[in-house]
Amino acid sequence: MDVIYRYDPFAPITARQIPDAKAALNSLVEGNDRFRQLVHRMQERTLGGDAGEPIVIPISPMTSGLPLFPGAMPTQAPFAVVLGCSDARVPTEAVFDQSFNDLFVLRIAGNVLGSECLGSLHYALAHLKDSLKLIVVLGHSKCGAVTAAVDTHLSPDAYVNTASTFALRSLVDQIQIAVRGSSQALEKYVGAALPNQTMYRSVLVGITAYVNAAVSAFELQRELKLRSADGPKVVFGIYDFESLRVQSSPDLTPETPRLRPAPRNAEELAQYATEVVEALMSLGDDELEAGYTLTMRA
Ligand SMILES: [Zn+2]
Repeated sequence: MDVIYRYDPFAPITARQIPDAKAALNSLVEGNDRFRQLVHRMQERTLGGDAGEPIVIPISPMTSGLPLFPGAMPTQAPFAVVLGCSDARVPTEAVFDQSFNDLFVLRIAGNVLGSECLGSLHYALAHLKDSLKLIVVLGHSKCGAVTAAVDTHLSPDAYVNTASTFALRSLVDQIQIAVRGSSQALEKYVGAALPNQTMYRSVLVGITAYVNAAVSAFELQRELKLRSADGPKVVFGIYDFESLRVQSSPDLTPETPRLRPAPRNAEELAQYATEVVEALMSLGDDELEAGYTLTMRA
């Protein structure tokens, strides 16, 4: 199986147009689908499948934000800001199949908002406003930061060790609101008949990954006062290691938005947590075990 990057200086150049938030969102979702297809083809090949036709990826300095001549410097013009987790398994540009100069990326463990993070966003909004159309919060499944926050919730004794420094504490504390919102929604759903503790922990980590991304998107929208119609829209989702999809719910039906708008208030946030719980708990026990006990290794 061959994957070929091909540059032809005489080929016609068509610069991609991202005129609005909808086009930006479509570009990210389509890019994630290309990434998934590439990985699936490699997996099929690993299992003895046919090599198939080569995948040819046209590349051009003009459309990839690369210098056209030695010494030339492209103008920075990303179409989206992405706030993602530092996890090495979730490289932002690769997951969305985007190129140089497409994304203004902020990565911090647990994709939480800090003052430096907000400062970077303010910079992007002030200096890159002509090209920016969308702001994305991207969490991911099996997140170590989320798992640590869940563990300090379930075992308060663990808090002293896990959050022993100011820096670690501020990280874990920031995720607590998502953990507690997820926990409330889950307990409302399962009532007194809680599953065993290992399953409960795994499911809670799974739910919190979604809710934590929603919390960051909600906070981001509120902090930046982006409610005006002409500002970049804020959306969120998570990258799921099982499906390779960027998705906003464990419910994988085609109608489910891959990235959804940030909640506008606390009620919408709570409603979203309930939706995630219902979608996750509607999966069979086998899927839950397969998908979420792996969080133990996060
Ligand atoms: Zn993470």
